[in-house]
Amino acid sequence: MSEKSIFERIIEREIPCSLVYEDEHCIAFHDIEPQAPVHILLVPKKRINRIEKATAEDQTLLGHLMLKVGEIARQEQFAERGFRTVINNGENGGETVPHLHIHILAERKLQWPPG
Ligand code: 5GP
Repeated sequence: MSEKSIFERIIEREIPCSLVYEDEHCIAFHDIEPQAPVHILLVPKKRINRIEKATAEDQTLLGHLMLKVGEIARQEQFAERGFRTVINNGENGGETVPHLHIHILAERKLQWPPG
């Protein structure tokens, strides 16, 4: 694997973050450049470069992340008003950090289709 991702450095507390949630499998923190009033990144501690690189071995972890999206939305009290989850994959998808992460965007009315 190449050098540590920025998210691995956050997981290892080499660089700070505004923590929202953490357990043994994942961490969630506020995006440094928020695209909505609430913009959380949910990141598996295991480095999977992007969703397209996940394998059957990651099935339980991916399910765990999906359940955590809802839990975080309830914890942060925006679940009832709605929110959006986004996974950018590769260049055309707008991915900039090669470490799987789920964006959770909330507290503004989001457009569809996305830009
Ligand atoms: P991507 O473009 O790969 O889907 O999303 C990467 C996200 O990570 C971006 O929204 C960007 O603002 C966020 N990000 C990049 N570096 C940092 C950082 O050091 N701290 C935090 N909290 N977010 C970061």
